[in-house]
Amino acid sequence: MGSKYVLPELPYEYNALEPYLSEEILKLHHDRHHSAYVKGANSALEDLEKARKGKIEVDIKAVLKELSFHIGGHILHTLFWKCMTPEKSEPSGALAEKIKEEFGSIEAFRNEFSKAANSVEGSGWAALMYCPLTERLIIQQIEKHNVNLAPELRMLVCLDVWEHAYYLQYKNDRALFVKNWWNVVNWDFIEERFKEVTRK
Ligand code: MN
Repeated sequence: MGSKYVLPELPYEYNALEPYLSEEILKLHHDRHHSAYVKGANSALEDLEKARKGKIEVDIKAVLKELSFHIGGHILHTLFWKCMTPEKSEPSGALAEKIKEEFGSIEAFRNEFSKAANSVEGSGWAALMYCPLTERLIIQQIEKHNVNLAPELRMLVCLDVWEHAYYLQYKNDRALFVKNWWNVVNWDFIEERFKEVTRK
């Protein structure tokens, strides 16, 4: 038998990303929202286990939907925290080259990614993916935590644009949050992930 999902600690202090992301937001986002996805995923798994033992009856379709939503939320948030840092960093090396090849320039990539993030309908994410079949970079616009994701693509970086990610500080100005987010992107970490997924 495997283990349960566990809420990871933030790789920095709650106030480390100020002024771009307030301590209050980061604390609520991590301790309440992310934590709820971890609990939700574990509780869906527990319900399935109980059902297999005949202890309860479950609506399998509903539980699997819950499970997908919460696992998605947990995994995306876990990556999201690591994609940010208080240290200033810039795109470099093979990843920077790949971005220029695919999007024309780093600036053009930022613009396209920002547009994707700003226009997610309702709650969701923007993510930069690497497709091993074509060896190309692809931007995905994820709805909720789990909708519109193509299987087998490898995620390099993700940006949470649920209202809970910015509302306390930015009100309804998602575009300003997205613009400021670029100041805390951890390019060194993303570069490491890129090396990992392209290693032959
Ligand atoms: Mn979130």
